[in-house]
Amino acid sequence: MTDTVAVDSPPLDHRLQGVYDTLQRRNPGEKEFHQAVHEVLEILVPVVARRPEYIDAKLLERICEPERQIIFRVPWSDDSGEVHVNRGYRVEFNSALGPYKGGLRFHPNVSASIVKFLGFEQIFKNALTGMPIGGGKGGADFDPKGRSDAEIMRFCQSFMTELQRHIGEYTDVPAGDIGVGERELGYLFGQYKRINNRYESGVLTGKGIGWGGARVRKEATGYGTAYFVGEMLAATGSSLDGRDVVVSGSGNVAIYAAEKVQQLGGRVVACSDSTGVVHDPDGIDVALLKQVKEVERARLTVYAERRGGRARHEDGASVWHVPCTVALPCATQNELDGDAAKALIDNGVVAVAEGANMPCTPDAVRAFRAAGIAFGPGKAANAGGVATSALEMQQNASRDRWSFEHTEERLVQIMRDIHADCYATADEYGMPGDYVAGANIAGFVRVADAMLALGLV
Ligand code: NDP
Repeated sequence: MTDTVAVDSPPLDHRLQGVYDTLQRRNPGEKEFHQAVHEVLEILVPVVARRPEYIDAKLLERICEPERQIIFRVPWSDDSGEVHVNRGYRVEFNSALGPYKGGLRFHPNVSASIVKFLGFEQIFKNALTGMPIGGGKGGADFDPKGRSDAEIMRFCQSFMTELQRHIGEYTDVPAGDIGVGERELGYLFGQYKRINNRYESGVLTGKGIGWGGARVRKEATGYGTAYFVGEMLAATGSSLDGRDVVVSGSGNVAIYAAEKVQQLGGRVVACSDSTGVVHDPDGIDVALLKQVKEVERARLTVYAERRGGRARHEDGASVWHVPCTVALPCATQNELDGDAAKALIDNGVVAVAEGANMPCTPDAVRAFRAAGIAFGPGKAANAGGVATSALEMQQNASRDRWSFEHTEERLVQIMRDIHADCYATADEYGMPGDYVAGANIAGFVRVADAMLALGLV
């Protein structure tokens, strides 16, 4: 797995190339951000040919420049009293469709580039959900691994002490992401409430059920990814039933993708974390996985030991070499490269859907598309999480509380609509079955048209 990828894609149309050159010049060294923008620009060639007003209004230049970027100091002290200083970020990218919306990531490799790539993707993903939410992202280069509960709390409080002045239910609504789950959101919300003296539930999503959270939000990204790949298979007259599926990661997205895949009749034969892979040919025991990863926060080796039978843990192995017909990368960016894509294709994969954000490198995406594999990009396939966050905001605004069944029905319908939208848009632009084209074009056009309508803001 590589953290950064040089953009070596084919040249763009000259107007789009100009936009890209300027972006590279203004954001030097930000490889992940360049990669995410290039992936969108590549797809937009037929769109700007059809809609020249986007070029005239400098829509592309405007969409690539965040509305606001905030970088701040996060000082905190560990349990021994030693002081640490981290860097916090919030990129408020685009509010044409609604308040900025997107998660917070705590991971040592968080940088301006990572936050901008995630924020940029988030704009189009959020547009695809059809909900009234703009795009943003944030986080800190803080490593929560091995930190005590009290240290996590102090870090979150310090982070929110600065962030709180920039967010609000009508302005910017953060959520979780890698390293930020319900525990961290609790500490963040508590500090926001304390400073502002307002029980403003709609300021954060992914909250606990007991304090303003929505049912299904925890499960939504993974469930949505499973539903999306189910729709992709249905479009080819097939289904998840009886299929061997590989899921990377073993965090929030991976666990609930695995759970829903198995409920829909598939068998998840492997998952992973940053140290290795568990191969479990009889199908991952999701209840045990939850106990090990969510409750005990232990390593996957513990899962393999307790599971016994044919389950094996392998240090440092690649999950993409485990044979399967459906692959769901659900860990992190650029975790599936061209070689991994080749291994999957050689093993007979028929569908790949991104539960994580940008987990497939450009080489891998090209390989899947060239081999005619159904490929669901993260913007579409993992949009169920943010869509359910929008449902959480809706419940907070109306001081209401929906049942699990009702919320999941809404999620299923949203994923079906996103799939149908991507499918129809790809058809309309002469690229049938190309979900990368469908998702990027459908999301972009929705945001671009709103920006045109709002004038030069
Ligand atoms: P978590 O922190 O819950 O889980 C991340 C998982 O990925 C962990 O199992 C982690 O292993 C593994 N991982 C992290 N870095 C690496 C690496 N370098 N190599 C291999 N495995 C790695 O995060 P989420 O599940 O919330 O997020 C996963 C992805 O999904 C991210 O790309 C995120 O942006 C995206 N996403 C998340 C949404 C959400 O609602 N949570 C919504 C939409 C997208 P370890 O424990 O060893 O670190």
